[in-house]
This record gives sequence, C-alpha cells and structure tokens, in this order.
Amino acid sequence: MLAGTLIAAILLSLLRLSPVWAEPAALIVHGSPAEKRIALTFDDGPSPYTQEICSLLCRYQAKATFFVLGCHALQYPRIIRGLLKHGHEVENHSFSHKRFPQVDKAAWQQELERTEAELDCLGSPDRNLFRPPYSNYNQRFLNYLGHLHERLVLWSVDSGDWRGLDDVAIAANVLKGVHNGAIIIFHDGDELGRRDHKNTVDALRIVLPALKSRGYEMVTVSELLHIPNTKGSVPSEPEHAHP
Ligand SMILES: [Zn+2]
Repeated sequence: MLAGTLIAAILLSLLRLSPVWAEPAALIVHGSPAEKRIALTFDDGPSPYTQEICSLLCRYQAKATFFVLGCHALQYPRIIRGLLKHGHEVENHSFSHKRFPQVDKAAWQQELERTEAELDCLGSPDRNLFRPPYSNYNQRFLNYLGHLHERLVLWSVDSGDWRGLDDVAIAANVLKGVHNGAIIIFHDGDELGRRDHKNTVDALRIVLPALKSRGYEMVTVSELLHIPNTKGSVPSEPEHAHP
C-alpha cells in the first residue's frame, strides 16, 4: 500500500516536471462571423512592393498583418519600422521559408527564434501569431507552438496572387469570397525575393475601395480575434478554430 502510494507520488511529480508539450496551439482560420471586420494579411515580405501596399492601406484607413520572413526583415529593416509606425501588425512566418514538417525540432526553433530576435530588434511589440510556410504543419508542430503560447494562423479567403493571376482575377477572388470575420491572404514577397508582385498591388487598388464601400472594417489579425498584444495572454472572446 505504502509502495503504491509512493509510486503514485513519483509519477505525479514526474508529470508536473515534464514540459507542457501537450498544450495545443489555437488554429485560427477566421474571426467572428457576427462582426463586419476582416483581416488582410501579407506573406513572405517585406519587399520593395511593401511600401506601396502600406500607402494604399493608409489611404483606405485599413490596418493589416504582415507575416514576414526573417531573412527579408534583415534586408529591409526600415520597411518593417514603417509598417509598425503606421499601426500594422508584423508577425513571424519563419526565417527562410522551410517546410516545417520536413525539418527537425532544432531547425523549427532556429527558424522561429531568429525571426523573433530580428523583430524584437526592430521594435515590433510582443507577437503571438505564426503562419507556417506553405501552410504546412503537423500535430507535433502545433503542440510546439502551444508550448510557446503562439497561435497558428491560416486564412479563409485566398486571393490566389501566388498563382500568377492578373490584378482583376486576384480582386475577383477576394470580393467573391469575402465574409464577416474573413482572413484574406496576399503576398508582398516570395522566399527568394525575385518575383514581381505588382499584380497584388494593383489588385489592392480595386479591392480596398470595394471592401470599404461594402462597410468592412479592415483590422489586424490580433484585433480581429480580440487578442491583447501580450504573449501568452488569454483572448477576451472565444476564437473560431478550424474544425
Ligand atoms: Zn510563405
């Protein structure tokens, strides 16, 4: 009896000592369908196209979330500071756009931490969102993010700009798919920094006034989800996770 109690006590203490790897990260696809608010998101930048996007967003009083690559943040620090100065959100999209399920945990950590350190240096406030490159992730990676109190953010509307569509087709995808609480994905850069993103910029000239005239408020992902801007804090409202 005493031995049984002792074993139970040891097991309990081991459980308490083990890291909280089982805590799942919230998987975010959209915000509340009850609110006429949407979040425009831009991946793989910053790039020389980002400043023009920032100017267009300002013109239509829109705030956005930029999921940047650490390697590009290193290259364009002034653009990151400019985004922050204009009230946009800058979040982590890894350092060099690796496919996360195909690399080991040490590589995940390095990819996340290098970008976090870079964004810290550039004055970005506490961040708690992550978008995985190629939207690739697995349960083990989700658990890892949960341990860091990070949320994994996907999207509910794909602009399709990564497929080489023209501005009119990109705008049509967005305006056809938009809904209350939508998270919309665009790209202001690419992993190699070589592609032309003019069609994305031109599509925004169509999309932004149209969304504004439909009465949508364009906010950051954290604002859409009512997440206070503090790492590890609890959101004020329930989130809408992927099924
Ligand atoms: Zn990407």
